[in-house]
Amino acid sequence: MKIVDIITKNTPSLSFEVFPPKTETTFDNVKAATEEIAKLCPSFISVTYGAGGGTSKYTLDIVKNIKQSYGVPTLAHLTCVSSTRETVRQKIEEIKAAGVTNVMALRGDIPEALADADRSGWAYQHAVDLILELKASGADFCIGGACYPEIHPESANQKEDIKRLKEKVDAGCDFLTTQMFFDNNLLYNFLYKIREAGITVPVIPGIMPITNANQVERAIKLSGSYMPQRFKSLVDKFGADPAAMKQAGIAYATDQIIDLYANGIADVHVYSMNKPDVAAKIQGNLSDILGK
Ligand code: FAD
Repeated sequence: MKIVDIITKNTPSLSFEVFPPKTETTFDNVKAATEEIAKLCPSFISVTYGAGGGTSKYTLDIVKNIKQSYGVPTLAHLTCVSSTRETVRQKIEEIKAAGVTNVMALRGDIPEALADADRSGWAYQHAVDLILELKASGADFCIGGACYPEIHPESANQKEDIKRLKEKVDAGCDFLTTQMFFDNNLLYNFLYKIREAGITVPVIPGIMPITNANQVERAIKLSGSYMPQRFKSLVDKFGADPAAMKQAGIAYATDQIIDLYANGIADVHVYSMNKPDVAAKIQGNLSDILGK
Protein backbone atom coordinates (compact mmCIF):
# COMPACT_ATOMS: atom_id res chain seq x y z
CA MET A 1 0.00 0.00 0.00
CA LYS A 2 1.25 3.47 -0.86
CA ILE A 3 2.04 5.74 2.09
CA VAL A 4 0.13 8.63 0.46
CA ASP A 5 -3.05 6.55 0.47
CA ILE A 6 -2.61 5.82 4.18
CA ILE A 7 -1.82 9.31 5.41
CA THR A 8 -4.50 11.13 3.48
CA LYS A 9 -7.34 9.25 5.15
CA ASN A 10 -7.71 12.11 7.63
CA THR A 11 -8.07 9.95 10.72
CA PRO A 12 -5.29 10.19 13.32
CA SER A 13 -2.61 7.54 12.87
CA LEU A 14 0.84 6.76 14.17
CA SER A 15 3.83 5.40 12.26
CA PHE A 16 7.24 4.39 13.58
CA GLU A 17 10.84 4.57 12.41
CA VAL A 18 13.35 1.81 13.13
CA PHE A 19 16.97 1.39 12.14
CA PRO A 20 18.74 -1.74 10.87
CA PRO A 21 21.51 -3.56 12.75
CA LYS A 22 25.11 -2.52 12.39
CA THR A 23 26.52 -6.03 12.42
CA GLU A 24 25.42 -9.60 11.80
CA THR A 25 25.71 -10.31 15.54
CA THR A 26 23.08 -7.73 16.48
CA PHE A 27 20.73 -8.72 13.64
CA ASP A 28 18.48 -10.98 15.71
CA ASN A 29 18.07 -8.45 18.52
CA VAL A 30 17.20 -5.66 16.13
CA LYS A 31 14.85 -7.92 14.18
CA ALA A 32 13.06 -8.87 17.41
CA ALA A 33 12.70 -5.20 18.43
CA THR A 34 11.28 -4.22 15.05
CA GLU A 35 8.85 -7.15 15.24
CA GLU A 36 7.56 -5.94 18.62
CA ILE A 37 6.99 -2.53 17.06
CA ALA A 38 5.26 -4.13 14.04
CA LYS A 39 2.89 -5.96 16.40
CA LEU A 40 1.51 -2.55 17.43
CA CYS A 41 0.04 -2.37 13.88
CA PRO A 42 1.16 1.19 13.10
CA SER A 43 0.06 2.86 9.85
CA PHE A 44 3.53 2.11 8.49
CA ILE A 45 7.11 1.49 9.60
CA SER A 46 10.10 3.21 8.00
CA VAL A 47 13.51 1.56 8.06
CA THR A 48 16.53 3.84 7.84
CA TYR A 49 19.53 3.27 5.62
CA GLY A 50 22.93 3.69 7.22
CA ALA A 51 21.63 6.06 9.93
CA GLY A 52 21.19 5.89 13.71
CA GLY A 53 23.95 3.33 14.16
CA GLY A 54 22.65 0.95 11.48
CA THR A 55 24.19 0.13 8.13
CA SER A 56 22.74 0.05 4.64
CA LYS A 57 23.23 -3.70 4.35
CA TYR A 58 20.22 -4.88 6.31
CA THR A 59 17.56 -2.26 5.53
CA LEU A 60 15.78 -4.44 2.99
CA ASP A 61 15.96 -7.56 5.20
CA ILE A 62 14.18 -5.71 8.01
CA VAL A 63 11.67 -4.17 5.58
CA LYS A 64 10.84 -7.55 4.03
CA ASN A 65 10.40 -9.22 7.41
CA ILE A 66 8.00 -6.54 8.71
CA LYS A 67 6.03 -6.54 5.48
CA GLN A 68 5.78 -10.29 4.98
CA SER A 69 5.43 -11.48 8.57
CA TYR A 70 3.25 -8.72 9.99
CA GLY A 71 1.53 -7.17 6.95
CA VAL A 72 2.50 -3.68 8.09
CA PRO A 73 3.16 -1.23 5.22
CA THR A 74 6.83 -0.32 5.03
CA LEU A 75 8.96 2.55 3.81
CA ALA A 76 12.52 1.71 2.78
CA HIS A 77 15.01 4.56 3.12
CA LEU A 78 17.73 4.95 0.49
CA THR A 79 20.61 7.42 0.37
CA CYS A 80 22.73 8.36 -2.62
CA VAL A 81 25.57 10.63 -1.51
CA SER A 82 29.03 9.49 -2.62
CA SER A 83 27.49 6.37 -4.25
CA THR A 84 28.06 5.35 -7.84
CA ARG A 85 25.19 5.08 -10.31
CA GLU A 86 25.74 1.33 -10.52
CA THR A 87 25.35 0.88 -6.74
CA VAL A 88 22.22 3.00 -6.55
CA ARG A 89 20.64 1.37 -9.61
CA GLN A 90 21.35 -2.06 -8.18
CA LYS A 91 19.72 -1.07 -4.86
CA ILE A 92 16.66 0.20 -6.71
CA GLU A 93 16.41 -3.12 -8.56
CA GLU A 94 16.63 -4.96 -5.21
CA ILE A 95 13.86 -2.77 -3.77
CA LYS A 96 11.72 -3.46 -6.83
CA ALA A 97 12.37 -7.20 -6.64
CA ALA A 98 11.34 -7.19 -2.95
CA GLY A 99 7.97 -5.72 -3.96
CA VAL A 100 8.57 -2.59 -1.88
CA THR A 101 6.42 0.33 -3.07
CA ASN A 102 7.47 3.11 -0.72
CA VAL A 103 10.94 4.65 -0.82
CA MET A 104 12.31 7.55 1.21
CA ALA A 105 14.77 9.26 -1.13
CA LEU A 106 17.60 10.92 0.78
CA ARG A 107 20.90 12.45 0.01
CA GLY A 108 22.44 11.27 3.28
CA ASP A 109 25.00 13.11 5.36
CA ILE A 110 28.37 13.76 3.75
CA PRO A 111 30.84 11.34 5.42
CA GLU A 112 33.32 13.26 7.60
CA ALA A 113 36.25 11.85 5.66
CA LEU A 114 34.81 13.38 2.46
CA ALA A 115 33.85 16.75 3.93
CA ASP A 116 36.53 18.55 1.91
CA ALA A 117 36.40 16.31 -1.16
CA ASP A 118 35.72 17.69 -4.63
CA ARG A 119 32.10 16.66 -5.15
CA SER A 120 31.76 17.91 -8.71
CA GLY A 121 32.25 14.43 -10.17
CA TRP A 122 29.80 12.66 -7.84
CA ALA A 123 26.89 10.99 -9.63
CA TYR A 124 24.45 12.20 -6.96
CA GLN A 125 24.82 15.60 -5.35
CA HIS A 126 21.39 15.92 -3.78
CA ALA A 127 18.27 13.93 -2.98
CA VAL A 128 16.63 15.34 -6.10
CA ASP A 129 19.08 13.30 -8.22
CA LEU A 130 17.95 10.11 -6.50
CA ILE A 131 14.28 11.00 -6.97
CA LEU A 132 14.90 11.39 -10.71
CA GLU A 133 16.67 8.01 -10.74
CA LEU A 134 13.72 6.36 -8.94
CA LYS A 135 11.32 7.94 -11.41
CA ALA A 136 13.43 6.74 -14.35
CA SER A 137 13.45 3.18 -13.00
CA GLY A 138 10.00 2.54 -14.43
CA ALA A 139 8.59 1.34 -11.08
CA ASP A 140 5.50 3.00 -9.64
CA PHE A 141 7.18 4.02 -6.38
CA CYS A 142 5.56 6.24 -3.78
CA ILE A 143 8.47 8.56 -3.00
CA GLY A 144 9.10 10.44 0.23
CA GLY A 145 11.58 13.23 0.90
CA ALA A 146 13.01 14.85 4.02
CA CYS A 147 12.20 18.39 5.07
CA TYR A 148 13.43 20.67 7.83
CA PRO A 149 11.10 22.97 9.80
CA GLU A 150 14.23 24.53 11.36
CA ILE A 151 16.19 24.65 8.05
CA HIS A 152 18.74 22.10 6.88
CA PRO A 153 22.09 22.95 8.55
CA GLU A 154 23.79 23.45 5.16
CA SER A 155 21.20 25.94 3.88
CA ALA A 156 22.00 29.64 3.91
CA ASN A 157 18.46 30.57 4.92
CA GLN A 158 14.89 29.28 4.93
CA LYS A 159 13.96 30.86 1.62
CA GLU A 160 16.77 28.97 -0.13
CA ASP A 161 15.88 25.75 1.74
CA ILE A 162 12.23 25.95 0.69
CA LYS A 163 13.21 26.74 -2.91
CA ARG A 164 15.29 23.53 -3.01
CA LEU A 165 12.50 21.62 -1.31
CA LYS A 166 10.08 22.74 -4.01
CA GLU A 167 12.48 21.45 -6.69
CA LYS A 168 12.66 18.13 -4.85
CA VAL A 169 8.87 17.83 -4.67
CA ASP A 170 8.46 18.86 -8.31
CA ALA A 171 10.92 16.10 -9.28
CA GLY A 172 8.48 13.53 -7.88
CA CYS A 173 8.13 13.49 -4.08
CA ASP A 174 4.69 12.24 -3.08
CA PHE A 175 5.05 13.22 0.57
CA LEU A 176 7.54 14.72 3.01
CA THR A 177 8.63 13.71 6.50
CA THR A 178 10.10 16.31 8.82
CA GLN A 179 13.23 16.35 10.88
CA MET A 180 12.48 16.14 14.61
CA PHE A 181 11.32 19.31 16.38
CA PHE A 182 10.32 20.03 19.97
CA ASP A 183 8.16 23.09 19.47
CA ASN A 184 5.06 22.53 17.32
CA ASN A 185 4.83 26.21 16.44
CA LEU A 186 7.98 25.75 14.34
CA LEU A 187 6.14 23.14 12.29
CA TYR A 188 2.98 25.24 11.85
CA ASN A 189 5.09 28.18 10.73
CA PHE A 190 7.01 25.99 8.29
CA LEU A 191 3.80 24.49 6.86
CA TYR A 192 2.42 27.95 6.26
CA LYS A 193 5.58 28.96 4.38
CA ILE A 194 5.84 25.86 2.20
CA ARG A 195 2.15 26.03 1.26
CA GLU A 196 2.71 29.67 0.28
CA ALA A 197 5.63 28.48 -1.87
CA GLY A 198 3.31 26.07 -3.71
CA ILE A 199 4.35 22.81 -2.02
CA THR A 200 1.10 20.91 -1.64
CA VAL A 201 2.13 17.31 -0.84
CA PRO A 202 1.27 15.84 2.59
CA VAL A 203 3.81 16.49 5.34
CA ILE A 204 4.32 13.92 8.10
CA PRO A 205 5.75 15.45 11.28
CA GLY A 206 8.59 13.45 12.86
CA ILE A 207 8.56 13.31 16.66
CA MET A 208 11.51 12.07 18.71
CA PRO A 209 10.66 10.95 22.24
CA ILE A 210 13.67 11.88 24.37
CA THR A 211 13.85 9.17 26.98
CA ASN A 212 17.26 9.77 28.50
CA ALA A 213 19.34 12.86 29.19
CA ASN A 214 22.27 11.70 27.00
CA GLN A 215 19.98 11.67 23.97
CA VAL A 216 19.40 15.41 24.26
CA GLU A 217 22.89 16.44 23.24
CA ARG A 218 22.96 13.94 20.38
CA ALA A 219 19.54 15.05 19.13
CA ILE A 220 20.56 18.70 19.10
CA LYS A 221 23.85 17.88 17.34
CA LEU A 222 22.08 15.81 14.69
CA SER A 223 19.17 18.07 14.00
CA GLY A 224 20.12 21.50 15.36
CA SER A 225 16.66 21.52 16.96
CA TYR A 226 15.53 24.32 19.23
CA MET A 227 14.80 23.12 22.77
CA PRO A 228 11.93 25.08 24.33
CA GLN A 229 12.35 26.12 27.98
CA ARG A 230 9.51 23.75 28.94
CA PHE A 231 11.57 20.86 27.59
CA LYS A 232 14.86 22.05 29.13
CA SER A 233 13.18 22.31 32.56
CA LEU A 234 12.01 18.76 32.23
CA VAL A 235 15.53 17.50 31.45
CA ASP A 236 16.99 19.59 34.31
CA LYS A 237 14.47 18.19 36.77
CA PHE A 238 14.36 14.52 35.72
CA GLY A 239 17.56 13.98 33.68
CA ALA A 240 19.42 12.29 36.53
CA ASP A 241 16.62 9.78 37.20
CA PRO A 242 16.37 7.42 34.18
CA ALA A 243 12.87 6.11 34.93
CA ALA A 244 11.46 9.59 35.60
CA MET A 245 13.18 11.02 32.50
CA LYS A 246 11.74 8.27 30.34
CA GLN A 247 8.24 8.88 31.65
CA ALA A 248 8.55 12.64 31.23
CA GLY A 249 10.01 12.30 27.68
CA ILE A 250 7.17 10.01 26.61
CA ALA A 251 4.62 12.42 28.11
CA TYR A 252 6.21 15.36 26.28
CA ALA A 253 6.15 13.51 22.93
CA THR A 254 2.53 12.42 23.54
CA ASP A 255 1.57 16.01 24.26
CA GLN A 256 3.19 17.18 21.02
CA ILE A 257 1.37 14.47 19.04
CA ILE A 258 -2.04 15.31 20.54
CA ASP A 259 -1.52 18.96 19.64
CA LEU A 260 -0.59 17.95 16.06
CA TYR A 261 -3.75 15.86 15.68
CA ALA A 262 -5.83 18.68 17.15
CA ASN A 263 -4.39 20.97 14.50
CA GLY A 264 -5.40 18.74 11.60
CA ILE A 265 -2.32 16.54 11.12
CA ALA A 266 -3.32 12.98 10.14
CA ASP A 267 -0.20 10.85 10.58
CA VAL A 268 2.64 11.45 13.02
CA HIS A 269 5.92 9.57 12.57
CA VAL A 270 7.63 8.60 15.81
CA TYR A 271 11.39 8.11 15.81
CA SER A 272 11.05 5.05 17.99
CA MET A 273 14.76 4.16 17.89
CA ASN A 274 14.10 0.39 18.08
CA LYS A 275 12.47 0.79 21.50
CA PRO A 276 9.21 -1.20 21.49
CA ASP A 277 8.36 -0.18 25.06
CA VAL A 278 8.53 3.50 24.17
CA ALA A 279 6.48 2.97 20.99
CA ALA A 280 3.89 0.96 22.93
CA LYS A 281 3.62 3.56 25.73
CA ILE A 282 3.07 6.40 23.26
CA GLN A 283 0.48 4.39 21.35
CA GLY A 284 -1.18 3.42 24.65
CA ASN A 285 -1.39 7.07 25.69
CA LEU A 286 -3.27 7.76 22.45
CA SER A 287 -5.47 4.66 22.46
CA ASP A 288 -8.85 6.39 22.37
CA ILE A 289 -7.69 8.98 19.85
CA LEU A 290 -6.34 6.25 17.56
CA GLY A 291 -9.24 3.87 18.27
CA LYS A 292 -6.80 1.11 19.27
P1 FAD B 1 18.84 17.26 0.16
O1 FAD B 1 17.39 17.34 -0.15
O2 FAD B 1 19.76 17.00 -0.97
O3 FAD B 1 19.24 18.61 0.90
C1 FAD B 1 20.51 18.76 1.52
C2 FAD B 1 20.95 20.22 1.46
O4 FAD B 1 21.22 20.58 0.09
C3 FAD B 1 19.89 21.22 1.92
O5 FAD B 1 20.57 22.29 2.50
C4 FAD B 1 19.18 21.64 0.63
O6 FAD B 1 18.58 22.91 0.75
C5 FAD B 1 20.37 21.65 -0.34
N1 FAD B 1 19.98 21.33 -1.71
C6 FAD B 1 19.05 20.44 -2.13
N2 FAD B 1 19.02 20.37 -3.46
C7 FAD B 1 19.97 21.24 -3.92
C8 FAD B 1 20.44 21.62 -5.21
N3 FAD B 1 19.90 21.10 -6.31
N4 FAD B 1 21.44 22.53 -5.29
C9 FAD B 1 21.99 23.07 -4.16
N5 FAD B 1 21.57 22.76 -2.92
C10 FAD B 1 20.59 21.86 -2.80
N6 FAD B 1 20.23 9.88 6.70
C11 FAD B 1 20.68 8.63 6.43
O7 FAD B 1 21.89 8.45 6.21
N7 FAD B 1 19.84 7.55 6.37
C12 FAD B 1 18.50 7.68 6.60
O8 FAD B 1 17.77 6.69 6.55
C13 FAD B 1 17.97 8.98 6.90
N8 FAD B 1 16.66 9.18 7.10
C14 FAD B 1 16.18 10.45 7.31
C15 FAD B 1 14.79 10.66 7.45
C16 FAD B 1 14.28 11.94 7.67
C17 FAD B 1 12.79 12.14 7.81
C18 FAD B 1 15.17 13.05 7.76
C19 FAD B 1 14.63 14.42 8.02
C20 FAD B 1 16.52 12.87 7.61
C21 FAD B 1 17.06 11.57 7.37
N9 FAD B 1 18.43 11.34 7.19
C22 FAD B 1 18.89 10.07 6.93
C23 FAD B 1 19.37 12.46 7.29
C24 FAD B 1 19.60 13.13 5.91
O9 FAD B 1 20.24 12.22 5.05
C25 FAD B 1 20.46 14.37 6.14
O10 FAD B 1 19.71 15.35 6.81
C26 FAD B 1 21.14 14.94 4.92
O11 FAD B 1 22.09 15.93 5.35
C27 FAD B 1 20.23 15.63 3.92
O12 FAD B 1 19.45 14.75 3.25
P2 FAD B 1 18.28 15.29 2.27
O13 FAD B 1 17.73 14.12 1.59
O14 FAD B 1 17.37 16.19 3.00
O15 FAD B 1 19.17 16.16 1.24
